[in-house]
Amino acid sequence: MTEVYLDYNASAPLDPRVLEAMAPVLSGEVGNASSVHRFGRRQAAAVDEAREHVAALVGGRPGGVVFTAGATEANNLALRGAVEAASEGRQRMLVSAVEHASVGSTARWLADCGLVKLDVVGVTAGGFVEPGAVEELIGPDVLLVSVMAANSETGVLNPADGIAERAREAGALFHCDATQMAGRLPFDMEALGVDLVSVSGHKICGPGGVGALVGTRHALARLAAVIHGGGHERGLRSGSLNVAGIVGLGAAARIAAGERVSESARVGVLRDRLVAELEAQLPGVQQNGDPSRRLPNTASIRFEDADAEAVMANMDPVAVSTGSACSAGSIEPSEVLVAMGLSREAAFESVRFSLGRFTAAEDIDIAVESAAAAVERVRAMTA
Ligand code: PMP
Repeated sequence: MTEVYLDYNASAPLDPRVLEAMAPVLSGEVGNASSVHRFGRRQAAAVDEAREHVAALVGGRPGGVVFTAGATEANNLALRGAVEAASEGRQRMLVSAVEHASVGSTARWLADCGLVKLDVVGVTAGGFVEPGAVEELIGPDVLLVSVMAANSETGVLNPADGIAERAREAGALFHCDATQMAGRLPFDMEALGVDLVSVSGHKICGPGGVGALVGTRHALARLAAVIHGGGHERGLRSGSLNVAGIVGLGAAARIAAGERVSESARVGVLRDRLVAELEAQLPGVQQNGDPSRRLPNTASIRFEDADAEAVMANMDPVAVSTGSACSAGSIEPSEVLVAMGLSREAAFESVRFSLGRFTAAEDIDIAVESAAAAVERVRAMTA
């Protein structure tokens, strides 16, 4: 049986070119990037080169890159750091209803602790935030607005420029989680007017456990540290640097910046073929999210009358995912799909296919065959 991996939005395979860039750091080199001797300076130089690549990937300044242990930590730093450093009079936060848990739960936790008031910005049936929805809720008491660039479950893109404008008018920081976007489509924080951007290594064919928060000078000055210690990373994220991981993130960012447009064109054709063939082979197939404004690698598909967990189990060894989550022992439907107005039933019948750099045409053939057979089997079992 041939294994097929269509879960790039969960974690993408490491590009061999990234491994090649990391190998010398892992095998031969020694030194703390903060040390002043030549060993340390060599490590610091490698980190600084990575800083340039990460900044270039999102249109930021190398000096604005704060390396973290992934996008979860970057999102925590943006939200908690802004609340910690908030000036009096700004104690409200706006967060979209379809954020990753590392934004959504962090915002809810801050609100539960009484540190901030939280307003959740709803999305359209197509799954995106309209700038007008932000405008309705924003005011001079808003500290930060957090809306992701592209949704991990549906791939739907948000209008970051329009949201940035509303945030700027109110004097609020605009944080944009570009974890799924940055490696796939051009993203220029300066041109868009975004203040803080989160990225993650393992979503762009780099290593896991490393990421960055990239900020403008003005935005970083409005954050407090979340992890305290020796004052690394502009005092915002203490801890000896993960040099190999950072070098890997830098290499992945460099490769993605150069290849994301052509790669997305190729992957988009495969994704569209996957959807078209599933629609041709099966009745009751619906796409979730506005297909006209979506990442080219992602499809969230509802198979009517077929429980997605059962479909997924029947598709092994083809890897896909469902957005449902286990919380406190009971399975809950995807919050993203429910926020878009899907019924719980429709959400429980939705499967995410996410493709990427190493997805081949044959993988799509295998996935279509496997998904169609799985859906038919599940429907027959429950009919
Ligand atoms: N934000 C988004 C949109 C994501 O998809 C993910 C990963 N699923 C994260 C943040 C968290 O990234 P990491 O795994 O690097 O902590």
